[in-house]
Amino acid sequence: MMLPFNLEPLSDSRYFISNLAGFHRVVARETLELLAEQGDGVLDAGIKQDLARGLFLADSSAGEEAGVAALASGYARRLTRDLAFRPTFMIVPTLRCDHTCRYCQVSRAALGAAHSDYDLDARRIPQVIDLIARLGTAPYKLEIQGGEPLVRFDLVQAIYDEAEARLGATDFEVVITTSLSLLDDTILDWARGRRVVFSTSVDGTEVVHNRNRILPGDNAYQRVKRGIRAIQRQLGPDRVAAVTTVTKDLLAHPEALIEASQELGLTELFVRPVSPYGFAQKSGTGTYSFDDYMAFYDRLLSLIIAHEAAGGQLLSEYSGKIHLQRVFQPDFNGYADLKSPSGFLLDCVLINYDGKVFGSDEARMLQRVNPELDLSCGTVDHFDPAANPVYHKILKESLNAVHPGCEQCAYQPFCGTDPCQGISEQGEPVGDKSRSAFCQYHKRMFSYLIDRYYRDPEARSVMESWCHA
Ligand code: SF4
Ligand code: SF4
Repeated sequence: MMLPFNLEPLSDSRYFISNLAGFHRVVARETLELLAEQGDGVLDAGIKQDLARGLFLADSSAGEEAGVAALASGYARRLTRDLAFRPTFMIVPTLRCDHTCRYCQVSRAALGAAHSDYDLDARRIPQVIDLIARLGTAPYKLEIQGGEPLVRFDLVQAIYDEAEARLGATDFEVVITTSLSLLDDTILDWARGRRVVFSTSVDGTEVVHNRNRILPGDNAYQRVKRGIRAIQRQLGPDRVAAVTTVTKDLLAHPEALIEASQELGLTELFVRPVSPYGFAQKSGTGTYSFDDYMAFYDRLLSLIIAHEAAGGQLLSEYSGKIHLQRVFQPDFNGYADLKSPSGFLLDCVLINYDGKVFGSDEARMLQRVNPELDLSCGTVDHFDPAANPVYHKILKESLNAVHPGCEQCAYQPFCGTDPCQGISEQGEPVGDKSRSAFCQYHKRMFSYLIDRYYRDPEARSVMESWCHA
């Protein structure tokens, strides 16, 4: 007897099926047709046994009720795991920045803008760390965001010192998200003995990078290259990682990323489309279709496979890796976008330079472009998500299993929701999935990766290395 499951065609002859417990299979179309038209009695014994193991068919000896109970129990286990409150604490010491990137996602303030308008008041730092100590548990994850946080390196140091005193010297780690343009020996010396890693942006080779990441009067690519090399040399290769925002300029040149990673000694790529948030939306750099993006991704994966086949070092791609981990590793829920309920507030507490607190980085971006909304959950001295009705609505509606569209989608157990993107695009957190950029992107990524994994042994071997690296 069949138990409930959803299905998604990968091709004319193969379907991806999944159920609420998070099991999946790729099955032939004729198997599904036989099942629907004649029942499981006519299935090959091996296929039948495999589908029963994945809770797609009720075990004939235990009966349908036991199968449904097992599905419910699997779903409850997943839900409990994704409901945990384990936030990364993001702190924005300043909105000021020396770059003027074309797709700037957070907006920025000019380097020379008034400190009092765009910088965190240093006197607030004890309150910031106190809030983190009250809300989190060790090991605490702190992420310093901007603007360009190294514009106020003094505040970064003060945050670290306060965290060390209040949270415990070995009970936290800090990621500094930076363009590395201001990295110097003082900062490197400071970081050497501390639990600090750097996350930066590399958008391709020098020409592509500099066309989008603009450092007035200077060469942004050369700066980031020098910074990455210095960190690798002086602190170690695992102390710096890079993300890539795929702009129109990069779409036709995925090989530029392989070249850049070789030149910079990076072994992990993290590519993602231009964000639909904030000022990126208005800059015109994000106007390409998901067909174009997936064609880019397909070529990139083929280049990665060819690079490895030619004896090059394995390059992993983090976006692909997290989609695959969601499907193949039942315990993986480490990426805020691919979770249900969403990672909003559960995975992120962002403390802004002005003392306001937000449930995600996207919420503060949305706030910047929609000043008439209140998307904050209080301030650093008065954190109170319950006081803002928007938080009630977002949290209540962040389970994708009951979203129209998602409830019938085979990727629902592995996918998530992005309520702020829903508000940004459609004015409310759930939205019509057929018009959702979040849905289009993730559905295509899941379909592409799963299809390639099951039909292309070379791609599968590379993807397995990503997941186990
Ligand atoms: S994307 Fe980052 S580095 Fe570029 S202008 Fe915006 S804040 Fe500055
Ligand atoms: S957002 Fe789209 S891909 Fe994700 S579960 Fe919903 S319908 Fe499926």
